[in-house]
Amino acid sequence: MKIYNTLTKRKEEFVPIEEGKVRMYVCGPTVYNLIHIGNARPMIVFDTVRRYMEYKGYEVNYVSNFTDVDDKIIKAANAEGVDSSVISERYIEECKKDMKALNVKEATTHPKATEEIDGMLEMIGTLINKNHAYVGGDGTVYFKTRSFKEYGKLSHKNLDDLQGGNRSLLVTGEDQKEDPLDFVLWKPKKEGEPYWCSPWCNGRPGWHIECSVMSKKYLGEEIDIHAGGEDLVFPHHENEIDQSEAANGKTFARYWMHNAFLNIDNKKMSKSLGNFFTVRDIAEKYDLQVLRFFMLSAHYRSQLNFSADLMEAAKNSLERILNAAERMQGLLDNAKSEAMTDAEKELLATAKTFMEKYEAAMEDDFNTADAISAIFELVKFMNTNAGEDSSKEYLDELTGMFKTMTDVCGIITEKKAEILDADIEQMIADRQAARKAKDFAKADEIRNKLLEMGIVLEDTREGVKWKRA
Ligand code: AMP
Ligand code: ZN
Repeated sequence: MKIYNTLTKRKEEFVPIEEGKVRMYVCGPTVYNLIHIGNARPMIVFDTVRRYMEYKGYEVNYVSNFTDVDDKIIKAANAEGVDSSVISERYIEECKKDMKALNVKEATTHPKATEEIDGMLEMIGTLINKNHAYVGGDGTVYFKTRSFKEYGKLSHKNLDDLQGGNRSLLVTGEDQKEDPLDFVLWKPKKEGEPYWCSPWCNGRPGWHIECSVMSKKYLGEEIDIHAGGEDLVFPHHENEIDQSEAANGKTFARYWMHNAFLNIDNKKMSKSLGNFFTVRDIAEKYDLQVLRFFMLSAHYRSQLNFSADLMEAAKNSLERILNAAERMQGLLDNAKSEAMTDAEKELLATAKTFMEKYEAAMEDDFNTADAISAIFELVKFMNTNAGEDSSKEYLDELTGMFKTMTDVCGIITEKKAEILDADIEQMIADRQAARKAKDFAKADEIRNKLLEMGIVLEDTREGVKWKRA
């Protein structure tokens, strides 16, 4: 499996630190608003990387943070006259709903910056002790960039070029910096801002330190993959490397993966330009599996342009895949014979070449565009080479392969099966019978099963009433 590593600017064979295991950290969103479709790109792309690795048998420890202390959150909180945690908690919940609808698996851990302050204080303390950081007169703590000899190794920037071109790095309030390249690890509180006590001043962390700390806590000092959007290469990821490697004395991450941007009508999509769609905007018009399919139809390192026409095209393409899934299920349900014939064995060998193509594409730095082409080749093959006379065994093999391919990409979202009123009534009757027989465990089990299907029961004096949640 080859991964393009931003650090070396080359595709490299993936070798995990620990055999059979992957430790992966993906920088998550700042939660002050509903996420936009640009934010959804890294979520979808790296979830697909994770799914493919899991398919290959790796146990993936996947960590993705929520940045829940930040100027923009504080500004939104002040505008509403609420505590900043009200804003961040609200948008964490909303973000989780969007991720679920995009079929993004929950991370192994979703840490929040505000819950990791102790770890940040500890790492900042270590950096000061090791002379990689210093405290300014007002208690601001800065990382001493030039003390880390490899600064610039990820973004391939040269320190002196940065220095020359970046006088403006010396912004107001940061005038105690010894060097314009130094960056903030901890800063004093301002009126109306959340703050924590520290040995240096009451205040809050700079942005970069949270990821260094959370990555270390949940994955260890050295990890396999660190990922995020390409805008994070500099300064965020560069600074994370400095902090972690200076504090721990170990390589921070072996492979650095960055997705290219999602543009809109060929312009950079961003909140500040106001030319963005939230995931919710798209959900009003499309099933979100269409958005996921659209994102994966391009390689993650290629710029991707979003437009209404391209979304329509994605919807139509995905429909062909969904129709094939439905047709195959229908054939399977009605298959007349069990065992595969010799002719079918031969056909299956051809079908397997599409699976091989799919894997080869994914092994080549997760080329989902080519992987999806292989899915279409299989769809075309099934449409012509599977029918009412096909055996169950043959159909099973084809659908199994097809399902593996679509599941790794996560493009077919399982829909909850519609449950009929009559079935609900029957389950309620079974539950009543279990209660009468004092089999409360079974009664509870039935209630929970109904709940999972979105059916809420209410025991009233007139009997059991139910409603769809
Ligand atoms: P933020 O909330 O701005 O920190 O962004 C969260 C994640 O979304 C980061 O990995 C960003 O790089 C990524 N991101 C933001 N905008 C876009 C975009 N237009 N296209 C692709 N990725 C983006
Ligand atoms: Zn980060």
